[in-house]
Amino acid sequence: MSHTADDPAWQPATVAVRAGHWRSAAREHAEALFLTSSFVFDSAAAAASAFAADVPGVDTYTRFGNPTVRMLEERLAAMDGAAMAQATASGMAAITSLCLALLKTGDRLLYAQGLFGATTGLFENHLSRFGIDVVAVPPTDLAAWEQALRRGARLCFVESPTNPLLHVVDLAALAAMAHAHGALLVVDNTLCTPVLCRPLALGADCVLYSATKYLDGQGRVLGGVITFAERSLGEMVYRFIRTAGPSLSPFNAWVLLKGLETLALRMAAHGQNALELARWLSGQPGVARVHFPGLAGHPQHALMGRQQDGPGGIVSFEVHGGQQAAFAMIDALRLFSITGNLGDAKSTVTHPATTTHGRLSATQRQQAGIGPGLIRLSVGLEDVGDLRCDLEHGLQQLAPDRQGTS
Ligand SMILES: *Cc1c(COP(=O)(O)O)cnc(C)c1O
Repeated sequence: MSHTADDPAWQPATVAVRAGHWRSAAREHAEALFLTSSFVFDSAAAAASAFAADVPGVDTYTRFGNPTVRMLEERLAAMDGAAMAQATASGMAAITSLCLALLKTGDRLLYAQGLFGATTGLFENHLSRFGIDVVAVPPTDLAAWEQALRRGARLCFVESPTNPLLHVVDLAALAAMAHAHGALLVVDNTLCTPVLCRPLALGADCVLYSATKYLDGQGRVLGGVITFAERSLGEMVYRFIRTAGPSLSPFNAWVLLKGLETLALRMAAHGQNALELARWLSGQPGVARVHFPGLAGHPQHALMGRQQDGPGGIVSFEVHGGQQAAFAMIDALRLFSITGNLGDAKSTVTHPATTTHGRLSATQRQQAGIGPGLIRLSVGLEDVGDLRCDLEHGLQQLAPDRQGTS
């Protein structure tokens, strides 16, 4: 295997297509898929030294590492400006591995209210069983973070923008605050991808992705990636993953590498379509409120402009008439697929209160601001006029006496 030369002057779109490419003796052009569970050695002594090394990069067994998976890790590390990256079987496997590798009984974990539902469930229902003290903090309230950090914490965990309400968190300010109190900042950057936001450059210690979403971009495989500002943290997580086993399949890594080649183009197109639909929805009488950081009226619109290279493809909005109206609208859509996934070329629609956030208690949902009339769109790559027509048809299903009232 030989590494093709990466140039530090490359722009992000080039890095996403070219970085981290290992070429085998067959001189293939496309990244090779090494669908093998283990690797062979010329001698017992060579096997012994490879197993003794126990570092990422020396292949013995695919649970520990694999050349196709490594290409994905190296490319994401280059895109994020990271010292190291580690791939996992899913986004949740990334979050679980990071927490189990870096936290211990008695540690405090501060997390932003309104995180992805399974992440909140992992923290509140599972990590708490191991004596990890988990505390929810309002994501954009820096004074509340400061107050919570004063009582001590090992790790702060945030998403930006949050899902499904799209609050943008001031990552540079939060990183400085966390570090002043000796805590690490971990950012779930799934919605932005490295194309729109690079939290390590803003001071975050670890960044993680559900690669299932935009990195694949075509709704095919599960995957997760964690990037690290410092190698020492990455190696702690590597040692956990290679022992516990939430490793990424080389097949999925290969699909994800192909997804990365079009990521920059896709993120620009998702953002453009989403902005157009968010503007249009804002003028509709059946719609009470639109949440989208690309709109000038969004509370963190200016911060989004500083911190991100585009608004992203997720739009959520509240219809008048609660769950009944939301369900009627969703059921009338023909183009938007009813599914929990996001970040797909195909546009999708979700009712967060009964699906992605359905396992939260009513109080947790209320704290997170996820009401019964809330609808989340992941705006895909179809023609935006066709998408608008579909939404128009959906809004026509709302009872006329509900339109314009709350
Ligand atoms: C989907 C998602 C996850 C979980 O990822 P999986 O790949 O489904 O395990 C975590 N965080 C965010 C923001 C997500 O959208």
